[in-house]
Amino acid sequence: AVRELGGSGLAREIRARAAADAAELADSGVTPGLAVVVATDDESSAWYVRSIARAAGKAGIDCRTVDLGAGAEVERIRAALETLSADESVHGIILQTPLPAGAHFEDLASAIDPRKDVDGANPVSLGNLAAGLPAYPPATAAAVLELLDHHEVELAGRNCVVVGRSNVVGKPVAQLLLQRDATITVCHRHTPELTAFTPDADVLVVAVGKPGLITDKHVRDGAIVIDVGTNPTADGGLVGDVDPSVQVAGLTPVPGGVGPVTTALLLQHTVWSATRSVRRLRHAAGAQPRTGSEH
Ligand code: NAD
Repeated sequence: AVRELGGSGLAREIRARAAADAAELADSGVTPGLAVVVATDDESSAWYVRSIARAAGKAGIDCRTVDLGAGAEVERIRAALETLSADESVHGIILQTPLPAGAHFEDLASAIDPRKDVDGANPVSLGNLAAGLPAYPPATAAAVLELLDHHEVELAGRNCVVVGRSNVVGKPVAQLLLQRDATITVCHRHTPELTAFTPDADVLVVAVGKPGLITDKHVRDGAIVIDVGTNPTADGGLVGDVDPSVQVAGLTPVPGGVGPVTTALLLQHTVWSATRSVRRLRHAAGAQPRTGSEH
């Protein structure tokens, strides 16, 4: 039998912890603030933003959507990110995709203060992650690791294969697995034959966006498979990249796997960022030079 590596229970735990931490901050007069910058009229993006706002509200996070419209100019988006980066009531900033034609995600995300980059979008965050310095990983990449830990999957010394090499999923997942002492292979669209690599995986992470890409011939029985893919179906549903009939040791469901954990981690990162900002402000206040005369 294939073990279902669900994410809903884990997501609930993370949300509850974030809510408890937010309540503690509220006692000292600070409400964690999350800003989502939108420059698209894409339906699934709108759905995602609404679900983040709802979850944030329940966790005691003040979530604002900055909707610049699908025709927003690049400089306007950049200016919005800079303003939010300087706004003390904002602790987390998300730049939603897709972006208008001509806008480059990584370029714009450079305008997000890394301390508020709760979805690891600024290339500086990815660089820090690779160098082992503090950084928020993209929430989806962090969700993959949280799921593996939650389901007690060993990583040190294991063979991990990541399919997909985007800056938001494949690359940071590979970095996070590397930090955990796994051996990593990254496959992508120019990999001639996935079956040359994926059957060696103890842990297979798939983040491509192609339904049915991974079938039985790609996996061995004992593998743990994390399906990051989300592909809308004609009937309004959602499927992953992995054929759900694969015979493996464990598989994350789509929906109900990586997705809910991703949203929960965005909230957690935002509350952490707020906590850190409160500490910084306290520290700065405590370190003020004394005034008055000292004879
Ligand atoms: P992307 O389009 O930026 O990257 C896709 C990657 O897949 C690329 O690196 C490409 O080289 C690789 N690829 C394409 N065809 C391939 C093939 N035939 N064989 C091997 N590799 C191939 O996508 P992304 O933003 O990384 O997202 C990947 C998937 O994850 C999408 O389905 C997306 O919707 C989903 N996603 C889910 C969440 C979540 O929270 N669950 C979050 C982000 C992305």
